[in-house]
Amino acid sequence: MGESLLGVSNAVFERVAQVVGTPTYVYSAAAIRHQWTALADAVAAVSHRVHYSVKANSNLAILGLLRDLGAGVDIVSGGELARVLRAGFSGPDIVFSGVGKTASELEGALTADVGLVNVESEVEFDALSAVAARLGKLVRVGIRVNPDVTTDTHPHTQTGHKGMKFGVPLHRAEQLAVRMAQTPRIRLCGVGMHLGSQITDPTSYQTGAARLCNLVDAIRSHGIDTLESLDIGGGFAVSHGDTNALDLHALAAGVAPMLKRTGLRLLIEPGRLIIGNAGVLLTRVVYRKSASDHSFLIVDAGMNDFMRPMLYQAFHDIDVVSSGDVHRDAEPGRVDVVGPICESGDYQALDRLLEPVGAGGLLAIRGAGAYGFSMSSTYNSRPRAAEVLVDNTRFGIIRRREKLDDLWRDESVTPIWMDD
Ligand SMILES: *Cc1c(COP(=O)(O)O)cnc(C)c1O
Repeated sequence: MGESLLGVSNAVFERVAQVVGTPTYVYSAAAIRHQWTALADAVAAVSHRVHYSVKANSNLAILGLLRDLGAGVDIVSGGELARVLRAGFSGPDIVFSGVGKTASELEGALTADVGLVNVESEVEFDALSAVAARLGKLVRVGIRVNPDVTTDTHPHTQTGHKGMKFGVPLHRAEQLAVRMAQTPRIRLCGVGMHLGSQITDPTSYQTGAARLCNLVDAIRSHGIDTLESLDIGGGFAVSHGDTNALDLHALAAGVAPMLKRTGLRLLIEPGRLIIGNAGVLLTRVVYRKSASDHSFLIVDAGMNDFMRPMLYQAFHDIDVVSSGDVHRDAEPGRVDVVGPICESGDYQALDRLLEPVGAGGLLAIRGAGAYGFSMSSTYNSRPRAAEVLVDNTRFGIIRRREKLDDLWRDESVTPIWMDD
């Protein structure tokens, strides 16, 4: 991404930290556009639509930027539905996925005329057809299949092999498709899968897509001719530490012939690929502390702000933007970068070799654009971080830092008694 991080100079990071404070998430519009274009180029030979996976980063400004680029969205909750409508997306742009959609979420989806509801079980389908009947609405549905493909990613981010809660088992999908075709107000428009996250091996997608194509043949053999799309999900790896990115051209080359044979449109649902490496978390060093043989940098971003290191043991590169209070002759050294929270899992990096940095220094935790802010919480009554978008030489606040009284806005010192 060029010489400076995300095409954003250290001077801009310093300025953001001065004006907005820390911890702050900073995203680069140029980096997002760059990723969008790289993906679009790779799949250009296949009829396709990209549905950005909103849970990776759901800030309205990020959604607006992607909408302007022509993205659709993939959502997994009623809250995300409300968000994408607020950001200006309309029904046909939306794919609704998720294993536990409630009746009221399904109602919201039908009222918004979403383009595709990806059904993940027979029982969900029963609930959906009941809602469709009640509202008298036609629903475009897809079947999210569990294609039983094992992937090379962290156990918490695998979703596509047998025995997991996700998707309809492959051997039951054909029968479900037949039931769908016989159900009033249901139109079966697609089949799909989502294998997991941070997947580096393109053959996983090829194997899964081949199984989906066999299913398409089986469905069509019943005279069902309403299929329009085949959705290979998201999970495309970006480079993180020593992990390589998924080769998008190899991915496209692997699935294109199958797509062409079926005549279906390719749907893809990337989250991390679009925004992961387009964001950093800026954090200030509060103290530098030594204990026995260890040096700690205690920073102002905790696991409530950025959970990935603790939750997935994720490795994120850290850049020293400015060194703060260090001795002139200090050498690079190994440090644990830890947060202020009372949990021993509260760290951003362990035993990391960093340029000399002391109290007041500014760090940029890289690769924090996806599953960073969107997974953050207010644990320890810490207001959530601010978010900033840099576009060319300008930067703008896209979410102000949460205020203290936001923390208890919906609480009441005196219980609101409900049963008298
Ligand atoms: C989370 C998710 C994605 C996006 O995963 P990334 O690893 O961010 O690309 C896509 N589709 C579905 C159904 C998801 O749940």
